[in-house]
Amino acid sequence: LSERLESAFKNIKGQGRINELNIANTVKDIRRALVDADVNYKIAKDFTDKVKDKALGEKVLLSVSPGQQMVKIVQDELTELMGGKASEFNITGTPAVILIAGLQGSGKTTFSGKLANYLKSQKKSPLLVAADIYRPAAIDQLHVLGEQIQVDVYSDRENKDAVSIAKAAIAEAKAKNKNVVIIDTAGRLAVDEVMMTEVANIKSAVNPTEILFVVDSMTGQDAVNTAKAFNDRLDFSGVVLTKLDGDTRGGAAISIQYTVDKPIKFVSNGEKMDALDVFYPDRMAQRILGMGDITTLVEKAQAQFDEEQAKKLEKKIRKNQFDFEDFLQQIQQIKKMGNMKDLLGMIPGLGKQVKDLDIPDDAFKGIEAMIHSMTPEERANPDIINPSRKNRIAKGSGKKLEEVNAFMKQFEQMKQMMKMMNKMPMGGMMGRR
Ligand code: GDP
Ligand code: MG
Repeated sequence: LSERLESAFKNIKGQGRINELNIANTVKDIRRALVDADVNYKIAKDFTDKVKDKALGEKVLLSVSPGQQMVKIVQDELTELMGGKASEFNITGTPAVILIAGLQGSGKTTFSGKLANYLKSQKKSPLLVAADIYRPAAIDQLHVLGEQIQVDVYSDRENKDAVSIAKAAIAEAKAKNKNVVIIDTAGRLAVDEVMMTEVANIKSAVNPTEILFVVDSMTGQDAVNTAKAFNDRLDFSGVVLTKLDGDTRGGAAISIQYTVDKPIKFVSNGEKMDALDVFYPDRMAQRILGMGDITTLVEKAQAQFDEEQAKKLEKKIRKNQFDFEDFLQQIQQIKKMGNMKDLLGMIPGLGKQVKDLDIPDDAFKGIEAMIHSMTPEERANPDIINPSRKNRIAKGSGKKLEEVNAFMKQFEQMKQMMKMMNKMPMGGMMGRR
């Protein structure tokens, strides 16, 4: 989707001003891109009609190009369409009960683990409940996750009634002073009556604080039909979009929201337990528009290193003084944050390129060796690194001179990119939040 939108905008980028003709063309391209990404035609049309009206009514700003202005309008409208702002996640109650529902394979069990992990980091004490009574392996799976994140799991392999398991689990939670109960339920490969009745029965027995419908974002238009079926029956309180790390069609987020009018509350983007994010419509809009999810990236980074350091770094980037020492620190931070590919994918313009890359965990080893072989002076002043210094660095790090040269060049390009991002009105996002 992002690629298509990018090319739609490209058409208007060269134009001097917004006018009816270039708007009409851009809007048509956007609509086609949305439809191709599995957004229902009517939704896409409603959406682009709105964008068109807004664009036509808007004064052309002198400070930005028409393309940028269109991007802004589309982004604002997309944000609005996806609910405007992040919605509340209710965990009040003693205990709060979160019911997890969705088709088999949608990612319920994985998400249950992630949610427990997330709540734990918020100083809550969650209890995971294995209410998938049909597959013994599902119970094992939840136990494995629970062990991994150090959260208790309630299960009862003898009990073949999901409703009474759920009730017993809540009693156990009360006895053990757990304040959030997460009930992972069974799914089927397609919407069916037995599953629906079971989840509905659990719902009426435990009166959940939140009912989260988990849906695989890669299932496209089907996701919308499934969401509708579950919502008709359960009247769920929120949606969890999973597998956003895959080659996913961003369309599901838009269509589901539009069709069932329920907020997306979380997005899941990987198999690891920390690959969970609160859903922010504006960030999703940015992401769909191919600008990368800068805000999430910055937030992830900030969770790992202290704010002061982040500020210092940001200032350095702004003044274009980013040096090798900063780079080395960055690499160390990134390594702490986990999956390289996820992180790189969030950088604007890089998303597409890294998707197909196979990035090994020690991708930075050589780079680190080279920076380590530089003197502090060289790290702080990359410009002084002349050929004889390069030779010494190559020897010291056990790299070839060409590799040092290539790295220096990449570093230079990266600085150029940072410089450009500083100048971009949209890239300025980094500073505005
Ligand atoms: P359930 O049947 O709904 O409980 O689904 P599971 O939680 O067992 O997940 C089904 C498969 O999808 C498993 O192989 C998970 O590891 C995988 N999975 C779940 N969530 C994600 C995600 O966000 N990204 C990726 N890449 N895989 C996921
Ligand atoms: Mg499961």
